[in-house]
Amino acid sequence: MKISKLGEFGLIEQVIAPEFKELVNQHITGIGDDCAIMPISKNTSHLHTTDMLIENTHFLRDKIAPYQLGFKCLAVNLSDIAAMGGKPLASYLSIALPKDMDVEWMEEFMRGYKDLSEDEDVPLLGGDTTSSQGPIVINVGVTGEINNQHIKKRSDGRPGDILCLSGEIGDSAGGLQVILDALPEDPITARLLDQHLTPYPHVSEGLWLARHQGVHAMIDVSDGIGSDLQHILKASNVKGFIELEQLPISAELRQQAGACGWNAMELAISGGEDYVLLLSMDANQYEKLSGGFRREFGRSLHPIGHLSQGDPVITYMKDKQEVKDLKEGYRHF
Ligand code: ADP
Ligand code: MG
Repeated sequence: MKISKLGEFGLIEQVIAPEFKELVNQHITGIGDDCAIMPISKNTSHLHTTDMLIENTHFLRDKIAPYQLGFKCLAVNLSDIAAMGGKPLASYLSIALPKDMDVEWMEEFMRGYKDLSEDEDVPLLGGDTTSSQGPIVINVGVTGEINNQHIKKRSDGRPGDILCLSGEIGDSAGGLQVILDALPEDPITARLLDQHLTPYPHVSEGLWLARHQGVHAMIDVSDGIGSDLQHILKASNVKGFIELEQLPISAELRQQAGACGWNAMELAISGGEDYVLLLSMDANQYEKLSGGFRREFGRSLHPIGHLSQGDPVITYMKDKQEVKDLKEGYRHF
């Protein structure tokens, strides 16, 4: 059987994870969430996550500046720590480079990596450097720390919860479309490109949300909410409803989509790489939490739907009617 038949998540669930069920100590949470969780004391756990970026699969070398790539490969990993509500502690960088690449490229790459490391106070502690016969391959690992009372798992969603996003979605997919359509730079395309090439991980937002018991499940939006919400639904065994009119889509994306004939809604749902947080919270806490979030970050949480009892599938709603046939997220195979 070809791996394309199983798909990314089938491969992980059926071939990779089962091999290690018995080896994983019962106190440790392994494969299946944004990070692995290793308790180190009664009060504290360590978090571990790793993510890979491959040339021509995740980026095109002549369409992303090395500075941006260095920034982004750390950002996507910090985002997984944010998704648990944790504080990142350190990073590890492994990189395979074709032999003919310029040192200046790597200097710029490290400048981007360092700027985000400094902003989030996360030192680089190790890694591996090697040559590649083919594409550039980058793997970053990040460790983090979390108070055991604050851990937010994908499996913590409950019927009745309100679903919220910590930021707008779709701009990153719009930025990718700007690249693919080779659109000229103007203030709008520049904003979409920025969101695609240097997404800022919601670490502070994750830490703030994690301190509140009213927040239940959390995940970062890497593949598009159509795919990422599915992970919460499956892990929590609940049904999800998304109100399409409530999706936070920026004025810039709406405008560019109108001009170019893109479907902004579809980009927002299936585009991915937004690296905002998708969370579920106790409906009774919504007013208090959204007010607190606004005071802390100067912008709103976006309510986009709710969870209910039932099979773990998403129902999309518009004008109180169910909408079918939406594209739902990036597939690797
Ligand atoms: P994310 O998008 O948050 O990085 P993924 O969807 O990539 O998460 O992965 C889902 C889960 O599967 C995570 O817990 C991840 O650590 C695990 N996983 C993915 N690939 C592998 C692999 N090759 N070996 C072990 N675990 C893996
Ligand atoms: Mg994630």
